[in-house]
Amino acid sequence: MLEELLQKLQAITADAKSALSAASTPADVEAVKNRTLGRNGAITALSPMMGKLPAEDKKAAGMAFNEAKQGIQAALNEASARINEKKAEEAPAVDVTLPGRAWPFGRKHPISQTIDACCSIFRRMGFIAVSGPELETVWYNFDALNAPANHPSRDPQDTFYLPDGRLLRTQTSPVQIRTMLGSKPPVRIVSPGRCYRRDTPDATHGVHFHQLEGLYIDKDVSLADLRSTILKFAKEYFGTDVKVRMRPHFFPFTEPSVECDFSCVMCGGKGCRVCKNSGWLEIMGAGMVNPAVLRNVGYDPEEVQGFAFGFGLERLTMLKHRINDLRIFSDNDLRFLKQF
Ligand SMILES: [Zn+2]
Repeated sequence: MLEELLQKLQAITADAKSALSAASTPADVEAVKNRTLGRNGAITALSPMMGKLPAEDKKAAGMAFNEAKQGIQAALNEASARINEKKAEEAPAVDVTLPGRAWPFGRKHPISQTIDACCSIFRRMGFIAVSGPELETVWYNFDALNAPANHPSRDPQDTFYLPDGRLLRTQTSPVQIRTMLGSKPPVRIVSPGRCYRRDTPDATHGVHFHQLEGLYIDKDVSLADLRSTILKFAKEYFGTDVKVRMRPHFFPFTEPSVECDFSCVMCGGKGCRVCKNSGWLEIMGAGMVNPAVLRNVGYDPEEVQGFAFGFGLERLTMLKHRINDLRIFSDNDLRFLKQF
């Protein structure tokens, strides 16, 4: 019985060694390994014979098993090393002087860069950037912001409604409502983001666009604070010689409301095609937050006041980089995008 086992082990070992000396690929080596030492290999298949041996033969059998396994393993290693060495010799030499394959750097979209630049300016003035959902309810987008029930912007011709009655936000102001509902004054935030309106796309209108709105609520906030904040922003973004003027306007969200014009950044105020020879550019809507809005979010208008402002980021980017058609922002033309 022992004799038979030893003979079988020797035969398997000899067979494996001769196969390995002829092996020329890693797959050849792997095949020999599998059929000898593998789970269903020949050596493994002999194991049950060990149990049937008389006690005095077990030690010799165990040693023979180990010897066979080690011998085959050594031959496997040797064959692998020989094949790898041969492969290295045959491989063409690497020319380390060849230029590498360059991976192009990605960069941020010009609108994203504008958002970053604006948020950074307002952050230095103590504003925190916050975001909110693009899918909104009528209450957040219109009611809480004091939009009259018959306001034309509520019309399905102007706003995208979902079958369940929700809508794609038409402005980022709902974020202001969400923030005020979730915190006590003082509040000092800016909310940049994507908005949607049903519009016929042309050079200055798109069905989706980006806005940045700001809100500052505290005790004793006045229109003068709004003016100095806007002026500071204008100078930081466009340069120190930019002037700001305010004109009376009407927005349901604010009372009083103003339209903020910046002196034309194209002609310096002398008058050009972009400013229609007026020397001024309409940039943002703003005003003191309507007491009705403050009451909607549970603030006491006798205790706190605040101002809000909002502007389009496409327009700001177009003025800064002298772009005359906003459709190019969503064309995804790399020749355009690579310039930023
Ligand atoms: Zn001009």
